[in-house]
Amino acid sequence: ADAESRFITNNPLSKNQHDLAVISLPGGNTRTLLHTSPFPLTMVQGKGVYIYDSDRHKYLDLTGDLSAGLFGHTPLPPIRRAIMSALDDVGLSMGATTALEQQHAALLCERFHIDHVRMTNSGTEANIYALAAARHFTGKRKVVVFSGGYHGGVLSFPDGKPAANTVDPDDFVVVPRYNDTDAALNVIKSVEEKGQLAAVLVEAVQGSGGVVPGTRDFLAKVREATKAAGAIFILDEVMTSRLSPHGLGVEYGLKPDMLTLGKYLGGGFSFGAFGGRKDVMAVYDPRLRGGLSHSGTFNNNTMAMLAGYTALSEVFTPEASIAFNRKGDAFRERLVAVSRGTKLSFTGKGSLIGVHFSEDGTEDITSGSDLAGKERADLKDLFWFEMLEEGFWIARRGYMALILQTPEEELDRLVGAVERFLEKYRGLM
Ligand code: PLP
Repeated sequence: ADAESRFITNNPLSKNQHDLAVISLPGGNTRTLLHTSPFPLTMVQGKGVYIYDSDRHKYLDLTGDLSAGLFGHTPLPPIRRAIMSALDDVGLSMGATTALEQQHAALLCERFHIDHVRMTNSGTEANIYALAAARHFTGKRKVVVFSGGYHGGVLSFPDGKPAANTVDPDDFVVVPRYNDTDAALNVIKSVEEKGQLAAVLVEAVQGSGGVVPGTRDFLAKVREATKAAGAIFILDEVMTSRLSPHGLGVEYGLKPDMLTLGKYLGGGFSFGAFGGRKDVMAVYDPRLRGGLSHSGTFNNNTMAMLAGYTALSEVFTPEASIAFNRKGDAFRERLVAVSRGTKLSFTGKGSLIGVHFSEDGTEDITSGSDLAGKERADLKDLFWFEMLEEGFWIARRGYMALILQTPEEELDRLVGAVERFLEKYRGLM
């Protein structure tokens, strides 16, 4: 309560802005997960790895726009040049095919080992179109997904069931526990036996579900069972493609039939893509009869095509990806070390980190369900308020996605702040 009342006192202009926002936006909000009580902070500027709120507090941005903001708030020189060139030399969307989409597509195919790809404006759309392809290709409807899986606002499966706004909720069968191989294989088998299985849709690390890495064995067995069932294995790499030079599908040798991409791959602009096997993607070949339509006014917009291509070819090279994720692993290991034996624990892989508070401080979290009944949301809130006061912007839900150019000294500073937090609240930990 103290931390929350200090928050209210310290942020009068964010409060005013929220009061204005509720006039024209429901709850003052247009991205549900950005709402925080008693009111969200309103950010007014981003510069490099820092953001500033209405009351001019400066934060080190550790949320990185939930992984989309890999390159920070000020475009790095090559990306800035690409953006300026898109504006000055090319022009905005032309309502026609361009060489830019071909160039970005070729790079995405090469980098993520897929035959064909198509662009969208978001990861959500990418998953919707990938599912449509799988259904059309197999002539079946049902899709197996995992509790805690998040594939977009209308494709989300918290707590073992489709969220209320899931599209065609009856077509999804949810495996109750991520990383539970036996449960997954049983569900796949039972849907297949009814002749209904079109696809299995899974993340190799559940991102929104708590930054919980899937084990190689679990993913490999699910992949194998999907193949044996004659269904399409769709790996959602919207969040995870940044964790490995060629994505986790390649790192783990999963050979997905389809994969979906998004976030940073538009170089900071709205982006999504889905791709995979040539024969499956052929359902979208407009030259063939009986296929599916896939349209979208901004699918090939100049900014995202050029900024995304430049970001991937010149900035987030395979070498940069390896070095960056090593840095993330080292950082997470330090956080794990300082929090050992407390109610605070950290999960993740490479540059993505989950922050958890539980009664027994378990470090062995292999699925969101492991925390059922043990989660300490009150301590997580306290952590968030205290980190804000220390100048760190972390997603309230307990999520960090590092920005590429975050200086090592700033990460040291966060480790120090976590230690101070644990000391200050020793009695609660
Ligand atoms: N899939 C995963 C794994 C995601 O994490 C997200 C977004 O957080 C999406 C899909 C949806 O992407 P978008 O927000 O671009 O629609």
